[in-house]
Amino acid sequence: MRLILLGSPGAGKGTQAKLISAKFGIPNISTGDILRENIRQGTELGKKVKDCLERGDLVPDDTILEIIDARLKQDDCHKGFILDGFPRTVAQADGLDHLLKRGGIALSVVVALVTDPEALVRRLSSRHTCRNCGADYNAQGAAVPERCTRCGGIVDQRDDDKEETVRYRLEVYQKQTAPLIRFYEETGQLRRVDGMASVETVFQAIVGELA
Ligand code: AMP
Repeated sequence: MRLILLGSPGAGKGTQAKLISAKFGIPNISTGDILRENIRQGTELGKKVKDCLERGDLVPDDTILEIIDARLKQDDCHKGFILDGFPRTVAQADGLDHLLKRGGIALSVVVALVTDPEALVRRLSSRHTCRNCGADYNAQGAAVPERCTRCGGIVDQRDDDKEETVRYRLEVYQKQTAPLIRFYEETGQLRRVDGMASVETVFQAIVGELA
């Protein structure tokens, strides 16, 4: 199965991608996670993209396509994969199309999580994330632990989850990524799922689309 999860920042792509990955035994490829890991390790790529991530701007398409090209060539992708946070522009979607055709493979489905932007500002600006394993903790109404309950890593707010940056990231999404909905509607691969429902309901709806 080869799946794209589309949706604005905070729509729950990461949460759902992890659940689908566990259920179907296919890797979850999150370009955001790959970039953050490079920043943490201080690689050349990390140094190049750090400012972009802090501002909430998109990293250049060429850089992202190189990352995806290398990642999709790894053995664990043979059974399939989930793309979370990629593609984010029409140029990236075209680039992906080219890479898949070259590899003689096709996407199974593109699931778009449909969400309400104002609710996302609240969701994201109260989100705290484990710096080590990426687990999300939501501060809305619940106490956030200082240490991750799964791995013991430090839990704090991502720089780009500050409210002002969240609003900017949502604008970037509207301008640059939302056109992908039309793009995949035209290829006939788009399925819409209500992203404002509970994690379990959204998960079941996605699984239903994969059947
Ligand atoms: P995410 O964790 O998916 O919200 O991504 C965090 C940040 O990483 C984004 O705000 C961008 O700066 C960068 N990023 C992640 N994926 C992409 C992509 N496909 N294209 C461009 N920039 C990306």
